[in-house]
Amino acid sequence: MDLASVASYRLARSRADLALAPGETYVAGGTWLFSEPQPAVTGLVDLAPLGWAPVAALPDGGVSIAATCTIEQLQTHPWPASVAALVRQCCDALLMSFKVQHTATIGGNHALSLPAAATVSLTSALAAEVVLWHADGAERRVPVVDFVVGAGRTVRAAGETIRAIEVPAASLTARYAFRRISLTDLGRSSAVVIARQDPDAVVVTITAATPRPTVLRLPPGASPAQVAAAVATVPEWFGDPHGAVDWRRAQTERMALEAVAELAGEASR
Ligand SMILES: Cc1cc2nc3c(=O)[nH]c(=O)nc-3n(C[C@H](O)[C@H](O)[C@H](O)COP(=O)(O)OP(=O)(O)OC[C@H]3O[C@@H](n4cnc5c(N)ncnc54)[C@H](O)[C@@H]3O)c2cc1C
Repeated sequence: MDLASVASYRLARSRADLALAPGETYVAGGTWLFSEPQPAVTGLVDLAPLGWAPVAALPDGGVSIAATCTIEQLQTHPWPASVAALVRQCCDALLMSFKVQHTATIGGNHALSLPAAATVSLTSALAAEVVLWHADGAERRVPVVDFVVGAGRTVRAAGETIRAIEVPAASLTARYAFRRISLTDLGRSSAVVIARQDPDAVVVTITAATPRPTVLRLPPGASPAQVAAAVATVPEWFGDPHGAVDWRRAQTERMALEAVAELAGEASR
């Protein structure tokens, strides 16, 4: 839709260009920004000209996913085999046309932090960190699971830009099991469960069914009773027209049991 209140459009080419004037906001892919009225927005600062590499290797073996990386670029990156399926499953969980996937960005998805933000599901399960740039030149890092504090709420302060999401090396070699459910075949995610096998634990990350990513740490070889007991400790569930709270809770428990059993089954082969 037209944003009738917008009177200026700037291209960000350097970090200095990221300082926002009153009324300005960032536009990345614009897939959400132009989807609803933005009466308070009088100017847009386009992040695309910054030219950040979509996915870059880090010296410690991890990777940095630029905020401006699109869903399509994330999907087509040559990921290690251990995480390739997980990346594809999370990108597929975003029910977008190829046109939207071509422009929607990881930074925009994290800035919005909707419960069904599937790249947040991915980066939470990967134990990634959000790298935030402040206008004064400072930088801070926040684990994704602490960055999102509620449905559509984050700890990002005014004037902070999401620069990248950094994935640690260890997460790129771990094993994963993914489960997702929605009310209809092509519906928005109602619950997403991703189990990660660490050397000393099974880490279960719940998204879409909870207002923010919820992480459960279980001992290796956790029994079904231990998995169910851990799910019962989840402090808050999310409900909306895409699924009632009691149904999401029950589906999350079922999927957590399946995902943990899948990892245990692979380990015993
Ligand atoms: C058909 C369709 C289906 C969709 N399905 C889903 C879905 O299943 N799940 C879901 O979560 N979303 C969904 N969306 C919403 C949206 O498209 C995605 O969340 C997308 O990833 C947003 O990215 P963008 O680059 O288009 O963000 P934009 O629309 O450009 O920006 C979104 C917000 O993030 C801010 N922002 C963007 N980049 C940064 C940055 N680097 N630092 C700080 N702030 C920033 C902007 O100022 C703005 O407030 C859907 C949208 C459409 C049109």
